[in-house]
Amino acid sequence: MSLSFDPASIDLPNGHFIGGRLLPAEGRIAMHRPSDGVAYAACPIADAEVVDAAVAAAKAALKTSNWGGVRPRERVNALHRFANHIEANAETLAKLEALSSTRPVGQLVAGDIAVTAEQIRFFAEMADKEGSAVVPTDEASFGMILDEPYGVVGAITPWNFPLSMAGWKLGPALAAGNAVVIKPSEMTPFSTIRLAQLAVEAGLPAGLINVVLGDGQTTGTALTGHADVAKVSFTGSTAAGSAIMANVARTGIKPMTLELGGKSPQIVFADADLDKAAGAIAGSVLANAGQACVAGTRLIVEESVVAALSSAIIDRLRNARPGVTWDAATTYSPAISALQRGRISAIVEAARASGATCATGGSFMDHPGYFYAPTLLTGVDAASPAVTEEIFGPVLTMQTFTSESEALELASHPTYGLAAGLFTRDLTRALRITRALEAGTVWVNRYSRSRDHILPTGGYKRSGIGKDLGREAYHANRRSKSVLIGL
Ligand code: NAD
Repeated sequence: MSLSFDPASIDLPNGHFIGGRLLPAEGRIAMHRPSDGVAYAACPIADAEVVDAAVAAAKAALKTSNWGGVRPRERVNALHRFANHIEANAETLAKLEALSSTRPVGQLVAGDIAVTAEQIRFFAEMADKEGSAVVPTDEASFGMILDEPYGVVGAITPWNFPLSMAGWKLGPALAAGNAVVIKPSEMTPFSTIRLAQLAVEAGLPAGLINVVLGDGQTTGTALTGHADVAKVSFTGSTAAGSAIMANVARTGIKPMTLELGGKSPQIVFADADLDKAAGAIAGSVLANAGQACVAGTRLIVEESVVAALSSAIIDRLRNARPGVTWDAATTYSPAISALQRGRISAIVEAARASGATCATGGSFMDHPGYFYAPTLLTGVDAASPAVTEEIFGPVLTMQTFTSESEALELASHPTYGLAAGLFTRDLTRALRITRALEAGTVWVNRYSRSRDHILPTGGYKRSGIGKDLGREAYHANRRSKSVLIGL
């Protein structure tokens, strides 16, 4: 059966989801479909009182269900049922997400949602295996490190992969025995509401996952500054991450995981498999139209292969066909909003004005909605915002080098260090450069995540603090208590 659907046929679960109930609320922020620009809904804004009710519901759910204190295998089993239920409802979730976001419905079912269910199982399996230790002390004492859940975790997610990002937050927090109040992006909130409803249907205690809708300024600030939110888990821009740190510092001290922006380089040496490199590089800006934190948008290429590599990349970029996200055949996404597309265009125009050339792209696409053509900028000035700023769109810049040290110098970004890519057949060089790159993830001869959820993800420098995925994400949702018993 085709996954294609009519966007007008979708019922939106619009409201806050608190204590297992959907509470309708007045829509305040106008929402437009990225695929065709049509206004279709308005997102409510939870004020401090609504956020307080959600946090209270989370605390009450922890108390009545004893979620953090039950035999850990019970949490494992409950989260497996949740993951199964997500898979069983993949189509409904995908439609809700495709309607408001940049994610095509076919990619959602095959990718984002399948992976989210898998990641929830991955974290569930840690609940009865990871943690607490007996430690060496002198024989007159007995030492232990107990680890325990925090209580209520406040999570905030961006619009670019709404369900995946919700899964990254919910999986480890719930497996580790916490309750969550989550605020999705005001541009893409509905699939997260449905996800929370599915949790209750699957038997998770009502109130364990609460969803508050709203913007960063009102709802996000109330959530991160709430006295009963014991830990903050955020994914979004570096600017919002800074604002959250300031708010937390102002309202009280609490641990934070911050997954922030990037401007990731991909270095290609002349000895690389150029066809493979071109595929990976083009793929990293074609996927979600470059709206990925790890998008490898700064190409750094050894001079002798510039012509061959750029023509292989251009061929692939020119194959992108715009399509509405509710068509199962669509593979190329729109930008999230008119504003975002305008920003992409302004940065490309500024680069052109300072001497860069668009080897391909550099324009809006002939399609309703907010599509921007995949773009390769050559001859860019190193100081141009196209090279220094996170564009969050389908724009690659190309710079060239003749020596390894020059490549590394170009790859280093003064503030970001999220991911980096490296293409070479020389294993020694690959390991040497991997060590030298300042990035939380380095991909060699590929440029994408795999389904090895054990690999943590997170940034160096201002790309973040702490990790999502991996054991690190589970442990970031537990706190440790040192116990020393005199015998
Ligand atoms: P954004 O920072 O504008 O918004 C992200 C979320 O934060 C939204 O829910 C928003 O409402 C909320 N928010 C904004 N200001 C806030 C504040 N002061 N207090 C509390 N909450 C606030 O980001 P975006 O435009 O939604 O997403 C794109 C950004 O996310 C890019 O910078 C991208 O690199 C980053 N991102 C990072 C990762 C990662 O793993 N490092 C993954 C995905 C996206």
